[in-house]
Amino acid sequence: NFQKKFGQNFLIDGHVLNKIIAGANVTGDDMVLEIGPGIGTMTQYLAENARQVVAVEIDANLLPILDETLKEYDNVKIIHGDILKLDIRALADEYNDGRPIKVVANLPYYITTPIIMGLFESHVPVENVTVMVQKEVARRMEAGPGTKDYGALSLAVQYYAKPYIVANVPCNCFMPRPNVDSAVIRLTCHEKPPVCVEDEHLMFRMVRAAFNQRRKTLVNALSNSPEITASKDQIQKSLAIAGLPATVRGEALSLEQFAQLANVLSGEL
Ligand code: SAM
Repeated sequence: NFQKKFGQNFLIDGHVLNKIIAGANVTGDDMVLEIGPGIGTMTQYLAENARQVVAVEIDANLLPILDETLKEYDNVKIIHGDILKLDIRALADEYNDGRPIKVVANLPYYITTPIIMGLFESHVPVENVTVMVQKEVARRMEAGPGTKDYGALSLAVQYYAKPYIVANVPCNCFMPRPNVDSAVIRLTCHEKPPVCVEDEHLMFRMVRAAFNQRRKTLVNALSNSPEITASKDQIQKSLAIAGLPATVRGEALSLEQFAQLANVLSGEL
């Protein structure tokens, strides 16, 4: 009786579980936050390897099963709740003295982006996030400039972390089988952002505007966007100051170049 609304596809392949744990580099010092333990299959592996596991599950029906599967472990805390509403910093404080935690999950795919971006934007101390996501989403997170998968998600993720695809996982490793292939991706969090940007919000508004109209030149995409108040003249001038060609498209710009352009443009505004 699987709950489609909660994105329940349980992992049934031990090799994949081992790859996730190894990919996350879990050691006996770590506190691991597991999002959506399901019936506790991966939780057991985590409990064997980590100092402390805190697992957050939204589906009340699974709680008795989790209690049963995990009864032998005294280093697992199960929390019934919605990960999007939980104070994760408080958990890191309580179970890890505020030190950086590791996050491991076979994510519910319908909320992949809010979970990951929520973690990053809340500045909870996190060392790395190792998660099963849709293969296509993993590729978008990892993509670099000029490739078809490169977009707003690539830049948003890479501002906070360095992505690495640990493994591709076919749909027959799950029960029930999802309709899409999956991949395990590790996001190793930067201690500080890799670029220096004065106005993060302006930069990400520019990124969204650029990729909302990715066929257009950056000048046209930005000047057409209601989110960007700069005039076409100001945008053209900023591009020139940043040393970028007048006809460049957003998809060709690296994170550094977006940051530089945002810095120039905020000086113009
Ligand atoms: N970890 C298990 C495994 O690998 O077999 C289950 C993974 S399943 C893809 C996703 C899990 O996340 C389900 O157990 C689901 O109930 C849970 N879940 C869905 N939405 C959630 C939310 N907002 N907060 C916490 N858990 C959630």
